[in-house]
Amino acid sequence: MEKPRTSTSSLNRVISSFLREMVAVESLEDSYEGFVRILKSILDFNWYLIVLENEGGYKVVHHFNAPDFEELESYVFWVAERKSVSFFTLENEELLVLIPFIFRGRVLAVMIVGANQGEIDVELEDTIKIFALIAANTLANLILADQLKERNAIIEESRRFLNLLLDSFSDQIAVYDVERDIVYMNEAFKKAERSEDLETEIAGVVEESALRKESITKEYEASDGRFYSIETIPLRLEGEERILLIVSDITGTKELERIKKIDRMKTEFVANVSHEIRTPLAAIKAYTETLLYSFEDLDSETLQEFLDTILKQSEHLESIVEELLDFSRIESGTLKVEKEKTDIVSLTREVLNKLQAFAEKNGVRIEFESEEDQCHVEIDPRQFRKVINNLVSNAIKYSDKKKSDRWVKISVYPRDSEVEIIVADNGIGIPEHVGDRIFQRYYRVDSKLTYEVSGTGLGLTITKEIVEAHGGQIWYESVEKVGTTFHVVIPR
Ligand code: ADP
Repeated sequence: MEKPRTSTSSLNRVISSFLREMVAVESLEDSYEGFVRILKSILDFNWYLIVLENEGGYKVVHHFNAPDFEELESYVFWVAERKSVSFFTLENEELLVLIPFIFRGRVLAVMIVGANQGEIDVELEDTIKIFALIAANTLANLILADQLKERNAIIEESRRFLNLLLDSFSDQIAVYDVERDIVYMNEAFKKAERSEDLETEIAGVVEESALRKESITKEYEASDGRFYSIETIPLRLEGEERILLIVSDITGTKELERIKKIDRMKTEFVANVSHEIRTPLAAIKAYTETLLYSFEDLDSETLQEFLDTILKQSEHLESIVEELLDFSRIESGTLKVEKEKTDIVSLTREVLNKLQAFAEKNGVRIEFESEEDQCHVEIDPRQFRKVINNLVSNAIKYSDKKKSDRWVKISVYPRDSEVEIIVADNGIGIPEHVGDRIFQRYYRVDSKLTYEVSGTGLGLTITKEIVEAHGGQIWYESVEKVGTTFHVVIPR
């Protein structure tokens, strides 16, 4: 059997030197000193130079007494190419020992020393090769550790920056894991006082978003009277499924939207009212002018007709002004209700009689029924006339021109402690989404059918106020294109 060329003693020396030197090594810089000391234990040299692979070239990282790197550079490239420990005898008898540190085929570094001895025997050459092998592995690990440290520092730094950024947001931000436990929350989330119902709502949205694996955005009015936008985004963070939650207080935006809307409605209202007033005014003016300039030519029948029209238009003007006055009384809280014992059946008949001509003009049939001939209630008759008048004239105004049979049915149901008045029509109906906004001031359903009919958007506001001032209630049900039924209940 061939005798191993490297004696156990020199191998032991290298390994034990490595163990001794490398336990204390904490950085790449420390290791260079270590390599020098270990090599010193097996080889005597005057100077040394260590170069590290750097962007395709080599840079000096450690040296003592060495000649300029420029003089040695060509040797370094040569040995890096050759990938083996090499020796050169220089002119001054010095022996140049070139030791490449090779790891997985890559030359990580080259150590060059100027040795005192003239030649190297095989055994020493093998020991140097083993030194190079162990040094390369040590170096590779240290470079990796350095890179890792750097990477961790970068990650840590970006995490710190992200946290700082998220903490500066006024929106509440949290991240949930699959168990729906919170794994991250920003400062705003930590500090916010969320009402119980908001917490429940948030939990529901997070759950739904996790199950559906979809983003959800929802607006929620919490019991504290504030509006919140709740947004969830399912995402994968560091390989794990997470739900990102963003809760924003949008009360200010909502309020602004509301103010803007009222503003728009007011503008529309002014335009409507101006139009409402101008039409009868124009008619009055035209008829009066004709009377003034052609009085002599008119026969008594035409005269009568003209004066009737003027009176009707004046009454219409009066009713608009009356509506505006009522509205301003409601706004200022000075609407007066003077109750007296009134027969609501005959009061209703009286209003319907007045509206008969208007109904006929619109091709609408008025039907009236009452379970009793008389029904006495404590109400303000002047005000209550307006309630019936508004509801029935709306039923006529918003009748469906497409239907050949158009009707409005008014029923009075006297009961022990209350009276119910129902006004039902088969008109155009009210879209479901409108709901109780119909009773809001200036509100008119946003449709072509509504705008074909004149109105101020105040009628139902006034009607509701009057009914409530009598301790009563008003509501409606409606199906678009089928019809609408208003209910008024007042105590007896
Ligand atoms: P307006 O002066 O516009 O009639 P109201 O306050 O009386 O104002 O009514 C508000 C809106 O409600 C109307 O513009 C109309 O769009 C809708 N509306 C009221 N009554 C009816 C009805 N019987 N059928 C269909 N729509 C109605």
